Amino acid sequence: MNSVNFQDLKTAYKYKSTADLKLTYFIFNTLQKPILLRMLKGCANGIVKYNLPFKAIIKKTIFKLFCAGETIDEAFQLIKYLDTYQVKSVLDYVNEGEKSEAAFEVNTKIIVSNIQRVGKECPNNYISVKITGLEDTEFLGKCNARQFPTDATLKPRFDKLYERIDLICSTAKESNVVIYIDAEDRYMQDIIDVIVEAMMEKYNKEKVVVFNTLQMYLKDRVNYLENLIANAKQKQYTPGIKLVRGAYVEKERESAKKENRESPVFDTKEQTDKSFNTAVELCLSNHANIATCIASHNYASTQLAIDCIQKYNITDVQNKVRFSQLYGMCDGITFNLAASGYSVSKYLPYGEVKKAIPYLIRRSEENTSINGQINDELNKLKTEINNRKTNK
Ligand SMILES: Cc1cc2nc3c(=O)[nH]c(=O)nc-3n(C[C@H](O)[C@H](O)[C@H](O)COP(=O)(O)OP(=O)(O)OC[C@H]3O[C@@H](n4cnc5c(N)ncnc54)[C@H](O)[C@@H]3O)c2cc1C
Repeated sequence: MNSVNFQDLKTAYKYKSTADLKLTYFIFNTLQKPILLRMLKGCANGIVKYNLPFKAIIKKTIFKLFCAGETIDEAFQLIKYLDTYQVKSVLDYVNEGEKSEAAFEVNTKIIVSNIQRVGKECPNNYISVKITGLEDTEFLGKCNARQFPTDATLKPRFDKLYERIDLICSTAKESNVVIYIDAEDRYMQDIIDVIVEAMMEKYNKEKVVVFNTLQMYLKDRVNYLENLIANAKQKQYTPGIKLVRGAYVEKERESAKKENRESPVFDTKEQTDKSFNTAVELCLSNHANIATCIASHNYASTQLAIDCIQKYNITDVQNKVRFSQLYGMCDGITFNLAASGYSVSKYLPYGEVKKAIPYLIRRSEENTSINGQINDELNKLKTEINNRKTNK
């Protein structure tokens, strides 16, 4: 495979108009200023808690940057546009924090219908599934174990959840669409793992249809991955593994402290990086038996995966190694990987502004000056805006 020039800004931003580039710069710059960030988060929370009329502000700023729109038609328009740059999409219907059985049924129907539409209209694009959109987090916490519940108070409701997930996975197989199941808070991750392993065993025999997500900031994940590889070999299925570092560091630490137990998350960024990169090596050295998705904005980990493709002589690269970034972030990785022929996607949330607020707050917090590579991103945006001015 080709080497990738991550510094090629023209390629990175070619899908954005200059007006959109300036808006992106403005929003990222705003997120660096604690007072403005607090105001933006205040507006977002005001919509959720008090129904305040801030929707227009959020819709024209962070929602526009990180989401594909409020309707499925808007999302499909963007999927098709990104496809013209050889960038695939992982379509994600955002509907966080639901509590009712009726809402879980509606969410299932929407996901099933989206899978069918992707299969027909935009083959080779993907769907993301959050199990917390199909069941209540408290219930998932109660079921949390390395086996399905047998307890009579939990089983009937759990069986319904299992049916919903099975319907989603069987539709994905019929429609020839790959689905990525998100990782959640640690207190419900065991039961999610067990369900997804069962789905992979059922649907990943000939082709990889279902991917589980591993948060490599968790101290137990390298061990989990090693066991998963061994079990899958024995049961003769191919696991799909999406590797992320993990989105809930502070939340995990706080609940561990409150409950007086050891934090499940590594103590330092360096330990998380080491764990993530160990998992990249582990997955790609086992490429004959695993399909991997490197879901990261980290340049060093992305380069490591590219180096492993050479090192382990992976020939079926399009199927075995995929890359993914969040829409609105890290175009330098996405569009330069696509231009060099790698399989790469954007994670593309869509849905009502109000329902997307928790997602938008996570993204805003991730893009502050204390987190991530935001200064580098701001410099790149500024350089490209200036380049466009001089090349007019
Ligand atoms: C396509 C895609 C899908 C995703 N799906 C999920 C998902 O299903 N579940 C989920 O939880 N997240 C998900 N994420 C979010 C992801 O976890 C964060 O975007 C990611 O953690 C940012 O890390 P990075 O690999 O981009 O690298 P970097 O920006 O280099 O790393 C930042 C990360 O390092 C870790 N970290 C930072 N400081 C410390 C510290 N002091 N101690 C320990 N660890 C630290 C944290 O995980 C932090 O988020 C997804 C991301 C992408 C791109």
